[in-house]
Amino acid sequence: MRRYRIALVPGDGIGKEVIPAGRQVLEALAATTSGALEFAFESYPWGGDYYRAHGVMMPADGLEALKDKDAILFGSAGDPEIPDHITLWGLRLKICQGLDQYANVRPTRILPGIDAPLKRCRPEDLDWVIVRENTEGEYSGAGGRVHKGFPMEVAAEVSVMTRAGVERIQRYAFQLAASRPRKMLTVVTKSNAQRHAMVMWDEIAAEVARDFPGVKWDKEMVDAMTARMVNRPASLDTIVATNLHADILTDLAAALAGSLGIAPTANINPERVHPSMFEPIHGSAFDIMGKGTANPVATFWTAAMMLEHLGENEAARRLMKAVETVTANPKLHTRDLGGTATTADVTDAVCSAISAARTPLATA
Ligand code: ATP
Repeated sequence: MRRYRIALVPGDGIGKEVIPAGRQVLEALAATTSGALEFAFESYPWGGDYYRAHGVMMPADGLEALKDKDAILFGSAGDPEIPDHITLWGLRLKICQGLDQYANVRPTRILPGIDAPLKRCRPEDLDWVIVRENTEGEYSGAGGRVHKGFPMEVAAEVSVMTRAGVERIQRYAFQLAASRPRKMLTVVTKSNAQRHAMVMWDEIAAEVARDFPGVKWDKEMVDAMTARMVNRPASLDTIVATNLHADILTDLAAALAGSLGIAPTANINPERVHPSMFEPIHGSAFDIMGKGTANPVATFWTAAMMLEHLGENEAARRLMKAVETVTANPKLHTRDLGGTATTADVTDAVCSAISAARTPLATA
């Protein structure tokens, strides 16, 4: 019997709707294994409501509570009444940086039945994994404001890139590229205009590349990259970019795959010293909160990434198969995909597809 301790942090907005849905499909999956696979969930009520009650997004000892878990399933952080920088830094970034989850990994594919916006792009043309540096760079938090509120006010937001930080993310990306069938990596840069840190970024990519002779790699400026993603999607496979560049490119990738409501992400601590965290790319989406229309597919795909990380590859494959059976049916599309199905409809359908495919789950 393999038993995993999973921390659930639903957070805010639709996070509170999609994370319970994720739990439901994981429980349905475990129920098909005759006890071979079990999850022990522990839920943490952190986020905007917690902030209103306690003045912080999560308690001071919150990270300690997460450290003994096998993985974290996270919803979203964002609240219309609280500034975004407080919700982001007080919860999601606190966990990512505190648990040294330095590799943010975002796969993109066009799932069956999804009407993606690129009309000349066949589903097999778009199969990417974007690796985002997750702990430093443009979002290092270095900087400050002086003369606050006066006409001479000045603000500095300093991008910090360390050799160690750049090398470990490049190495992670090359390793990931080497494990994928096409063995291709595109290193996104902006070293024409940013002539210090981004030049070091390029140099380190070239150094790391020497250890991966089997990986075919190239470099692309971030501005040209947006056009290449739209015009030549099949020329890309694995992609590595800085914190800010990848933040933007992954939203574009999610849109090209059909909807933000589908896109998953993993915040990985590759050395496994600390648990990794898995979350849908989308935010709290207050405009649709409480309506029961949030698309839970991103969370299900996220849960499949979590299973893969735990070494439960067969369970992950089975979950994705069930998800793809459901996306293939337009009657089970939520509003973001042009349909009328509810979160509960999609969740129940995925659970039924998992149960219908019931066969004993073998070894991981
Ligand atoms: P945040 O400020 O927390 O980052 P947000 O509310 O500004 O998030 P996102 O959640 O990133 O925005 O999404 C933008 C829009 O896309 C939402 O307002 C919502 O309409 C739609 N959307 C996002 N996720 C989903 C989903 N899972 N299902 C349906 N629609 C979604």
